[in-house]
Amino acid sequence: MAIERTLSIIKPDAVAKNVIGQIYSRFEGAGLKVIAARMAWLSEQEAGAFYAVHKDRPFFKDLVKFMTSGPVMIQALEGEGAILKNRDLMGATDPKKAAPGTIRADFADSIDANAVHGSDAAETAAVEIAFFFPTLNVFAGR
Ligand code: UDP
Repeated sequence: MAIERTLSIIKPDAVAKNVIGQIYSRFEGAGLKVIAARMAWLSEQEAGAFYAVHKDRPFFKDLVKFMTSGPVMIQALEGEGAILKNRDLMGATDPKKAAPGTIRADFADSIDANAVHGSDAAETAAVEIAFFFPTLNVFAGR
């Protein structure tokens, strides 16, 4: 399987629950390396631009409000099949439907406060990583 990179965000609800380390452990346990990371409190402009693809959806306003409600932890992950691997670790968007043992099943409260973001395809991963990390701040996994 090809080595891929993906963009992950630990959302404000999970940061507030103090489970950054537990979520990082799951990345590490699955063979995903953190190759860039930073904590940030997103502005409305940043959150809106990041989720621009959803701008016409009914939940967009609440999503931006939630994503700007507290700090987030943003990381680029690298590893074999990283995009799908991270999506598997995350579980379904709605934590009620997420498989047992997934991050969302264990740490998320609702479909909007759902603990983590993960890129869903190679194209979006490239755009999302570039959105948060200038190339100089990405360290290739060794
Ligand atoms: N979302 C929401 N209500 C919905 C669907 C999505 O609040 O009915 C939020 C939720 O935080 C989700 C994000 O919008 O994580 C992006 O939605 P997407 O369908 O891309 O889900 P994901 O890729 O995060 O699983």
